[in-house]
Amino acid sequence: MASRTPNSELRTPNSNRLVAALLRWFAANARDLPWRRTRDPYAVWVSEIMLQQTQVKTVIPFWERWLRELPTVESAASAHTDKIHKLWEGLGYYTRVRNLQKAAQVVVEKHGGKFPENFDEVLALPGIGRYTAGAICSIAFNQPTPILDGNVIRVLTRIFGIAENPKGKETNAKLWKLAEELVVHASRITHYAAKSRTRTKDENDFCSHLNQSLMELGALVCTPRNPQCLLCPVKKLCVAFGENRVEALPNLGKRAAATARHFIAFVVEQEGKFLVRQRPAGIVNAHLWEFPNADCTAARPRAEEMFRDMFKIEPVDVQWLCTVKHSITRYRLTLEAFTVAAQKIRAKTAGVWKTPAQMEPLAFTSAHRKVLRAVAARPAPGKQRALLPGTSR
Ligand code: SF4
Repeated sequence: MASRTPNSELRTPNSNRLVAALLRWFAANARDLPWRRTRDPYAVWVSEIMLQQTQVKTVIPFWERWLRELPTVESAASAHTDKIHKLWEGLGYYTRVRNLQKAAQVVVEKHGGKFPENFDEVLALPGIGRYTAGAICSIAFNQPTPILDGNVIRVLTRIFGIAENPKGKETNAKLWKLAEELVVHASRITHYAAKSRTRTKDENDFCSHLNQSLMELGALVCTPRNPQCLLCPVKKLCVAFGENRVEALPNLGKRAAATARHFIAFVVEQEGKFLVRQRPAGIVNAHLWEFPNADCTAARPRAEEMFRDMFKIEPVDVQWLCTVKHSITRYRLTLEAFTVAAQKIRAKTAGVWKTPAQMEPLAFTSAHRKVLRAVAARPAPGKQRALLPGTSR
C-alpha cells in the first residue's frame, strides 16, 4: 500500500474535511450525558474532575448526586469535609475532591463566586491542569482551548499516523499543537459551518463540539482495542487506517509490570461497636475510614502474628471473613479481612469504636466498604455465609 504523509498542516483541504466530519458525526452521535445538558462551568468542571480515571457510566450517578447536594460553587466551598468525601466515596483518587473544594473556595474568595472565564485563571485553580482548563473553557465558554488526554492522544496519533511515543516531550508538544490547530480551525469555520449540515442544536458551539467529538470518538469508536474503523467518520482521512497501522498506535512503549500488594485487616467487635480509624492527612486516601490493617506484602505473616504485632496483645478467635481484590493504577491489591473477638484494645491509639449506624455516613475506601458489607452479611450462627460481589473465599 502506498504510504501517505501524515497531514499535520491543518490548513490543507483535508483539515477542513476532518473538522467538518468530526462535527457532523458528533452532532448526530453524541451521547445524551447529563452534564451535556448544561453550560454551567461549575457543573462542567465537576464532571471533568470526576471523569479523570473514571468511566462515564460510573460517574453519572455520582455527578447527579453531587449537583443535587452541592448545586453551586458556594455550597461546594463551604461543605463539611466529611460530606465531600462521602459524596466521592467509591470514585477513588480522593485528592481530586479535596482539590475541587480548595478550588471552589478560591472561586468564592477571589472571583466572588463566579467561575472565571479566562483560561489562565482557570488553570491557576487547585487541581486543574491544562487538559481540564481546556475542557472547561471550550465546553462551558466555547473558547478555542485544546484538550489532550488518553482518548484524544489515541485518536490524534492514529489520524495523523504519529509513530513516536506520545509521552515523549517533543511528541507530546506536537500533539498539543495539533489539538490546538483543530479547535482553532473549528472556531474559524463557524460562519460557514452554520450553513452546512454541521449545524447542531447548540448553534455555534463548534469549539465545544470539536473537543467533545475527539473525546467521544476515542470513547466510542477509536477505542484502545478493536476500534470500529469501518464505522468511523474520519476513516478516509486517517493515516493509521490507510496504512494498516491502527493496532500499532499509539506507541506507548512497554507498560510497567503490575505490582501485587497484600494487606490484612481486622474487624474487632465489642458490644455492637467496631474498631475503625480515619486515615491521616498527607497519605493516599487521606480522611477516609478503614478497619485497622497493615501491608504484609514482604513478610506475609499469619493473621495472628500480624494482630499481635499491631496491637501488642494476644488475639482471640481469629476467623477469616472475606478477601477483597482491587486494582488501582499499576497496583493489584489483595485485602484479607479477619474477625477477632473483643480485646482490651486501647482505642485511642488504634482507632475509635462505632456502631454500623454511625459508620454508614462515613466515607470508607472501596475495599473497606466491601469488608463492611461482608460484616453486615454475616450469617446467623450455624448458617453458611453467602459471598458478596467483590469478595472471595
Ligand atoms: Fe481510529 Fe480507525 Fe477512525 Fe482511524 S479510522 S480514527 S484508527 S477508528
